Amino acid sequence: MTTSLSDFQSLGLGEKLRRALRDVGYTEPTPIQTQAIPHLLQDRDLLGVAQTGTGKTAAFALPLLQRLDEENSLAKPRRPRALILAPTRELALQIHEELERFGKYTELRQAFIFGGVSANPQIKALRQGLDVVVATPGRLLDLAGQRHIDLSEVEVLVLDEADRLLDMGFIRDVKRIVAQTPNSRQSLLFSATMPHAVAALAREILDDPVRVDVSPKQVTVKEIDQRFVMVGTSDKQRMLEHLLRDDEVSRAIVFTRTKHGANKVAKKLGNAGIGAEAIHGNKSQGARQRALKNFKNGDSWVLVATDIAARGIDIDAVSHVINYELPHEPESYVHRIGRTARAGATGAAWSLVDPSERSRLRAVERLIRFSPSEIEVNLPPRDPAEAPRVNPPRRRSRPRASTNQRANASALPRAGSRRR
Ligand code: AMP
Repeated sequence: MTTSLSDFQSLGLGEKLRRALRDVGYTEPTPIQTQAIPHLLQDRDLLGVAQTGTGKTAAFALPLLQRLDEENSLAKPRRPRALILAPTRELALQIHEELERFGKYTELRQAFIFGGVSANPQIKALRQGLDVVVATPGRLLDLAGQRHIDLSEVEVLVLDEADRLLDMGFIRDVKRIVAQTPNSRQSLLFSATMPHAVAALAREILDDPVRVDVSPKQVTVKEIDQRFVMVGTSDKQRMLEHLLRDDEVSRAIVFTRTKHGANKVAKKLGNAGIGAEAIHGNKSQGARQRALKNFKNGDSWVLVATDIAARGIDIDAVSHVINYELPHEPESYVHRIGRTARAGATGAAWSLVDPSERSRLRAVERLIRFSPSEIEVNLPPRDPAEAPRVNPPRRRSRPRASTNQRANASALPRAGSRRR
């Protein structure tokens, strides 16, 4: 046995889980795992200040699975023993997939419950008996109202991305759900930020929690090469296309403030020969999964997303985050740019700033205590005849800029270059 595996062992994790960890290639625990797992195995409540990318899913999933597995009891119809609440379907699905991977050597039964897809398979799974349910609040309450699920035997409750749950207006739903679980439960709350409303919720549902803070805010922000371009709104699309053609951009997420904006930008990128997918809350679950899959496997190399749709999505090797507009809340800027520079990689974040967005830029600077540097880019001429088009990408490749475009692109910042 290697030293690294014994690290997970020294945290108290048993053989079945360590075997699964070996299969997925986790050799060492991340800081949040090291700090949280031993306490969770002792049934403590936990307040985790951590965002996606820190390894928080495994931090709560591993001890949870171990506890349920050790109890060695049969899954009861409609009465799960663990409930994980997540704000979005994508996050719920991702958590479910991780649980399946970690739990593969156990007999535990698990499923997700969320809207946008037929409830029937979910109802059927509940009837057959589940140990763990990962759910978004709306569908869960619907099914609870119809008595398809009974939360009175929940032993472990996890609220993931609590700040986002509250942002999305789920506070009352969350409280109604919590009220249906027994007081004796173990409770965990994870949040990337800790505004008053989240702190108040944590006080309400957690009992003498251990606090683990691995907020990578400062570190992440420093590691990312951040720049902004002043550009009028009417020129943003052209600027975006120009920036995307920079040789260094291998995979990018473009953030827009609205769903409509995401569609529009993605469509225009497609027209310009840049393989892009839009992802936002108005898309069906199937369409969102397809868009993510295409992006993950390289069939498209630009994902145009709204904040909520992109939260919690785990995609490796995103070289650039581009803010088509700055977000209303400066905290969202930090979440957005955290999509790049994951797992220790460096990345770049560029923002297209209309003069009317200056105050937003200042709000971001105050929050991150850092000023992204301004870059000046000479936009290529408007006439399409003068700006050679790039052919649509074939499978798994992104279009390379032509020599002419590279000359233009040389005006762009190098992702790895020093800040001013
Ligand atoms: P999370 O913060 O849970 O969304 O995890 C972020 C990413 O880190 C996911 O891709 C995980 O699969 C990965 N990850 C979590 N824990 C470890 C670990 N101990 N070693 C390597 N990768 C990990």
